[in-house]
Amino acid sequence: MYGESACLVGCVRPADAGGLCKSCSSARVKAGLSVEEFLATCPRPRQGFGNCIVRVCPRMAEQKRTRLCGSHQNQWASAGRPELAAWARAARAIYTSIDVVPLGDLPPAVITQVLLGYQAQLREGGRLSPSQVKSAVLWLTDHETADLRTAALPGKGATTTYLRLWQRTLLDLDADAETEHTRTVIRLHILNPAYRAKGSIDLSDIHAPWLLHLTQQHVLQLAASGASANRLHYTGYAARWFAMFLRTLPGEGCQPGTVGRAGMTAYLRWLTARARDTDDYQLLSAKDPARDVVAARLLPSLATGTAPLLVTLQRHYQLVASTSRVPSLALPVVTPDKVRSLPATLLEASSTAWK
Ligand SMILES: [Zn+2]
Ligand SMILES: [Zn+2]
Repeated sequence: MYGESACLVGCVRPADAGGLCKSCSSARVKAGLSVEEFLATCPRPRQGFGNCIVRVCPRMAEQKRTRLCGSHQNQWASAGRPELAAWARAARAIYTSIDVVPLGDLPPAVITQVLLGYQAQLREGGRLSPSQVKSAVLWLTDHETADLRTAALPGKGATTTYLRLWQRTLLDLDADAETEHTRTVIRLHILNPAYRAKGSIDLSDIHAPWLLHLTQQHVLQLAASGASANRLHYTGYAARWFAMFLRTLPGEGCQPGTVGRAGMTAYLRWLTARARDTDDYQLLSAKDPARDVVAARLLPSLATGTAPLLVTLQRHYQLVASTSRVPSLALPVVTPDKVRSLPATLLEASSTAWK
């Protein structure tokens, strides 16, 4: 045990910096001897007090009366000496060393999850920082986590970085490539290992079930045909735009039948107006939280400034074409030719306002 050694005399008691336990140390001081001189007198080893009574502590007890190790004795004293047995059941392990992280405070299932995540991280060839591991384990302890897979982790922050990684690992272990496309957050590398490190498509704010289903099927088809990860992401963006439009309709467009041909034409007009809205976006203050949301979820082309336009004629066409696969949505397939015959404002908006 780091930071713990037994008394040089042979007592089963923890030694202080001089190498002797408390009792031997005071006997030595009383006799006015150095440690060497004291050991030369061949003192009799004393019996120990057993292990520290804190549930998760493997250290030797230092005090006969409390049967706590030195560190826990200090903690208990500074906690105002509460009822000892109850305190010892709930007290945390001692983190004495920077490269030893006790897992004893965690439930067995969570220990296994931590080890699985840690192992995967090592296999990836990553260098693990002990202090990061420690802060991750402390977070789990503090939040009394019973299952890391479902733990509500903070979205960012260095103390929980490893937890987010481990959680992803655990979820990947449960993943099934056959059903991945039916999730509202589709992880591309599960769908097809070729999309490693290409992120996921978040469809969680698409409220209309039929549009969600359609988009999921579309993503599945694209992935099966080996489309680029970018194309898959654009499918997600396009579907979100369409969902935004649906919310402007009666019943929020939850029934495909109420959208119809008129609805599709209205969508294209609406989208043209949204393209003009990008001027409003550019005017948003950098501190405005809406700016981040709009940039990340709806206008990725603006976020980098160099990415291709999100909404192009081609993508309008794909989106409209894919809606025709819903039987109850009897829509005409708008060909690129027909899109070109739309009002000039749409063309203008598509080719200039999005830059
Ligand atoms: Zn001793
Ligand atoms: Zn202890």
